[in-house]
Amino acid sequence: MAGLTLERVNKRFGSTQVIDDVSMQIDNGEFIVFVGPSGCGKSTLLRLIAGLESITHGDLMIDDQRVNNLTPPERGIGMVFQSYALYPHMSVYDNIAFGLKLAKQEKQTVDERVRHTAKLLQLDGLLERLPKALSGGQRQRVAIGRAMAREPKILLFDEPLSNLDAALRVQTRNEIARLHERLGSTMIYVTHDQVEAMTLADRIVVLNAGHVEQIGTPRELYERPASRFVAGFIGSPK
Ligand code: ADP
Ligand code: MG
Repeated sequence: MAGLTLERVNKRFGSTQVIDDVSMQIDNGEFIVFVGPSGCGKSTLLRLIAGLESITHGDLMIDDQRVNNLTPPERGIGMVFQSYALYPHMSVYDNIAFGLKLAKQEKQTVDERVRHTAKLLQLDGLLERLPKALSGGQRQRVAIGRAMAREPKILLFDEPLSNLDAALRVQTRNEIARLHERLGSTMIYVTHDQVEAMTLADRIVVLNAGHVEQIGTPRELYERPASRFVAGFIGSPK
């Protein structure tokens, strides 16, 4: 099946089961949001999909290919973290170009991609600056640009807005939504903010203690929560 498939994915750290038999099918181009309380395994699940952690057992398929043993770039996945993790000594240009240079892209291709990405994210005027000379919102856009520049089929976001103030959070959230419309790439987005989840998601995955409580559209979860846990989390009146 095309898209991203998780088949009974499990992750143990030592004797602790952190991800417990998680299965789901994500279509190409979908905007998926993972929600759930702190410690329920959202970041771990994202890192398993990215290839930053190894799956204990179970399978991860991208467009029918088993990718368990592939590196993040081999999987065609880009990731944006909560803390921007920019290279402080590199300009905005070089931060965005980093992955492209690593992939040994030609100089002209790198230049075109960096400028195109910067334009999309409204960073055109800031390419020569160092991260310390940027606002929080601008830094997070650079981090998004760095993940986007290689044009991955799948973009992962781990609570990308949680270090921003409220106004900037709304603005950046809207930018991410617009980006999704323009790129058409699959996005998987972790948040503990239900407003973010309800506004961004095509479908929401509610996680609880490492397992999936429910997967559905924001409306389905609101109108027909499968459990009190989901109702409580989504804020529906069950
Ligand atoms: P969330 O992102 O939902 O807050 P995490 O995925 O970060 O949750 O963590 C899920 C659980 O896995 C937590 O109990 C956490 O302590 C544990 N955990 C995460 N990473 C590791 C690790 N590298 N080693 C051991 N335990 C870990
Ligand atoms: Mg987390």
